[in-house]
Amino acid sequence: MQKNDIAEIIINGMTDDGSGVGRYENLAVFVPYALLNEKVRVQIIKVKKSYAIGKLLEVITPSEKRSKSDCEYFYQCGGCAYRNADYEEELSYKWADVRDCIERIGKIEADILPVLGGERCHYRNKAQFPVGVSGAGLYARHSHRIIDTQNCIIQNEDSVKILRAVKEFMQEEKVEGYNEETHSGYIRNVYTRSGGGKTLVCIVTLTEDIPKKEKLIEKIKNTGVPLWGIVQNINSKRTNVVLGGQLKTLYGQDFMYDSIGDFKFKISPLSFYQVNPKQTKVLYDTVKKFLGDIKDKTVWDLYCGIGTIGQYSASEAKNLVGVEIIPEAVENAKENAKLNKIKNSKYYVGAAEKLTDKLIKEGGKPYAVILDPPRKGCDKILLDTVAKVAPEKIVYVSCKASTLARDLSYLKEKGYETEVIQPVDMFPGTPHIECVARLYRKVN
Ligand code: SAH
Repeated sequence: MQKNDIAEIIINGMTDDGSGVGRYENLAVFVPYALLNEKVRVQIIKVKKSYAIGKLLEVITPSEKRSKSDCEYFYQCGGCAYRNADYEEELSYKWADVRDCIERIGKIEADILPVLGGERCHYRNKAQFPVGVSGAGLYARHSHRIIDTQNCIIQNEDSVKILRAVKEFMQEEKVEGYNEETHSGYIRNVYTRSGGGKTLVCIVTLTEDIPKKEKLIEKIKNTGVPLWGIVQNINSKRTNVVLGGQLKTLYGQDFMYDSIGDFKFKISPLSFYQVNPKQTKVLYDTVKKFLGDIKDKTVWDLYCGIGTIGQYSASEAKNLVGVEIIPEAVENAKENAKLNKIKNSKYYVGAAEKLTDKLIKEGGKPYAVILDPPRKGCDKILLDTVAKVAPEKIVYVSCKASTLARDLSYLKEKGYETEVIQPVDMFPGTPHIECVARLYRKVN
């Protein structure tokens, strides 16, 4: 096989980033935008030892589930993967991805329930629009090239209004976006978080300086979007990480509130908060169900963020103990416990893997442990410690099925059987999928 070869292939699988995959001359070929069971004509654009990448030239036999994309940027943008397929089809790909990871990587058998789907458009409460020299809006697929956009179909409309206002301001006042190459310019990112009917706007800048700052504030206020406040975040590093550490309030307040079910949460822009509020309730209801009766019991909420999962699902616990690495999030978690009238809760700042010994000394052993780590999954040391304190139950919430599978397999060696996995679609249209796994301790 050589670069620029034209090949006809049958798509017989989907990757976890949403490409179709087929075979040509005994090599796996990944084809973005191709769907399962389609016959396609591709141009080979990259050949590696164990795989190749094909550019879709023509769908020879389309899938019955193929549909017209509902987003004008779909074929440029790196955000969504499945806007050209029916939602049911998307959910079946996601379910198959979870099953493949659990069986192939985890080598475990567990009951994988059908994915709980959500709404496919305008579901996000958080936007992070990159701003560069050529415009602002979104990153091209697998790249750091910024494409200038006026809209994003998965975002709430208020965030898009804010993006447009900031772009207008930049054009009118000739304020430059961030230049990655020369590490210069002013505005790096327009970050918004909406909840409780209002939006908190965060303008991420390279330095403290925003020329014509007052005009920017006016422009944002004039959108008519109800605001919690406007804050500036300064990120002076050469990095892909969006936020720096420093926050300055430009207007209103630098925090917001949102509700999930009967619970209210205070949120700092620096804290993690789930991005799909409707599906968050579905996710947390699943966690609550999987925890079962925790009255008079101790529950640990590790990687707790602002305390949401634990407070929502284990408000009746005798002791609720949370651990989180971001100090602002822990501050929020403590205030949220008060707001939600949850007594007997304690929150600690630090790495979960380093703090568990201290938790045992101070608060005794847990009956159940909630794990909700970032995409890379849990540290082995943490899993060792959790297994050592031997809770009856572990409820593992994961936004990446492959690391979940790896960790479930490790926990199996340590005596924990995965009973059931509930995938929840927190990110419709994109290739991502959230899972909740319930594990119990096998008594030998
Ligand atoms: N359970 C929360 C947050 C989940 S996201 C919720 O549902 O909203 C994962 C969280 O883990 C983030 O808040 C992140 O800051 C935190 N985190 C990352 N590494 C960590 C570590 N080593 N120890 C503790 N927390 C960590």
